[in-house]
Amino acid sequence: MHIRDEALKHFNNFSEKYLSKYSRDRNFDFGKFNRTNTSCLSKYITHRVIDELELIKSAHSKYSYTTIEKFIQEVFWRTYWKGWLELRPRVWEVYREDLVNLEDYKKNINYQNAINAKTTVECFNDWAQELKETGYLHNHARMWFASIWIFTLKLPWQLGADFFLKHLLDGDAASNTLSWRWVAGLQTKGKHYLATSWNINKFSTKKYENLKLNENASPLSESENFAQSPLHFDNMEYENSLFLVHNLDSCYLLKHKQKTFNNYGLFDFNDFLHNKNYSKKVLDFKAKINLEIFDQIKSDFGASTVFKNSDDILKFIKEKKIDHVIMPYLSCGYENDFISEFKDKVKIFYLAREYDQFCFPFSNKGFFGFKDQIPKILSKFL
Ligand SMILES: Cc1cc2nc3c(=O)[nH]c(=O)nc-3n(C[C@H](O)[C@H](O)[C@H](O)COP(=O)(O)OP(=O)(O)OC[C@H]3O[C@@H](n4cnc5c(N)ncnc54)[C@H](O)[C@@H]3O)c2cc1C
Repeated sequence: MHIRDEALKHFNNFSEKYLSKYSRDRNFDFGKFNRTNTSCLSKYITHRVIDELELIKSAHSKYSYTTIEKFIQEVFWRTYWKGWLELRPRVWEVYREDLVNLEDYKKNINYQNAINAKTTVECFNDWAQELKETGYLHNHARMWFASIWIFTLKLPWQLGADFFLKHLLDGDAASNTLSWRWVAGLQTKGKHYLATSWNINKFSTKKYENLKLNENASPLSESENFAQSPLHFDNMEYENSLFLVHNLDSCYLLKHKQKTFNNYGLFDFNDFLHNKNYSKKVLDFKAKINLEIFDQIKSDFGASTVFKNSDDILKFIKEKKIDHVIMPYLSCGYENDFISEFKDKVKIFYLAREYDQFCFPFSNKGFFGFKDQIPKILSKFL
């Protein structure tokens, strides 16, 4: 089955049978064989196999707003985090610098025990194993895991975020980095998330006796204050153009089937992400999406070129006399870093969706400020 059909089928089943109970049940982690109380759509949404608006519109067409309010808010958390990081790209930059400085720390035995599920904290080991096996963790388990990593095991949060990003099928630079910062007490300054034995045993199906967690730790702090930078969205030029699709906006072309650009191609980031040590499971998932995008541009536009670096693009530009290279907008993350590195050799324009352009500016403050804008967003797009 095609991955988009798989995603739509999954969502339809979830929305018919479970969505109405989402707000009541969503906080329980019933274990990896019982995942119906949340949608488990995140791996598709991260790659925009289905996009946020489709989900919101579909949920809205089936239920009253009060029934689905919580679900819609969670989908908006993703948009909020993305906008927040776009407004403060320095946070991503500093995180990457920290990771470089922490490279040697990876030899530390406590770090090794944590990523190999060999700590003295049983639940933590279970989640580390589950993450590696399945590429997924329930939201509550992500919070507990991050909290235990930072406050009980006292490991650098950046290495935990890195471990998640490389193993989660839904790995997203904004949601992941900022959620780790939130647990640490850096995102909402001075307010951290402390996992407690009581809370874990209430919301997790497996019960853990004798959990010894640091339930009194203080939040982390940092010296840098991250100022906002203005958002920038490129103006498009379409003459002699090459459109490069990528798997972080997989359904873009499904919604724009008419031939708007002169040439089409796929940009494949997998070699680059492999060098960044992404897990095989994540790379395989991305490769599957790439294959489907490739089939689609071939059947819809007769295109069959796959690009993996700037040399591939430069060669094509020269041969086909291309003036404008356009890609669906890449927000902060490794893929954007990779493209940005050769933007001086090839001028690349990012095509941003109207939804992102409209929503990102609302991430200028906390989520509650963003939440107040949800009615405005819904009235524009529904
Ligand atoms: C430490 C930590 C790291 C995280 N890393 C990621 C990540 O890399 N990628 C990612 O997509 N989410 C991340 N999350 C957010 C959240 O845990 C997942 O989006 C959610 O668990 C996915 O499961 P689901 O599809 O069943 O979600 P549902 O509860 O069914 O929610 C529907 C959709 O809304 C979005 N969403 C829900 N909760 C959140 C949230 N708190 N923040 C942002 N978006 C949300 C997701 O796209 C999700 O698929 C992280 C959370 C924590 C605490």
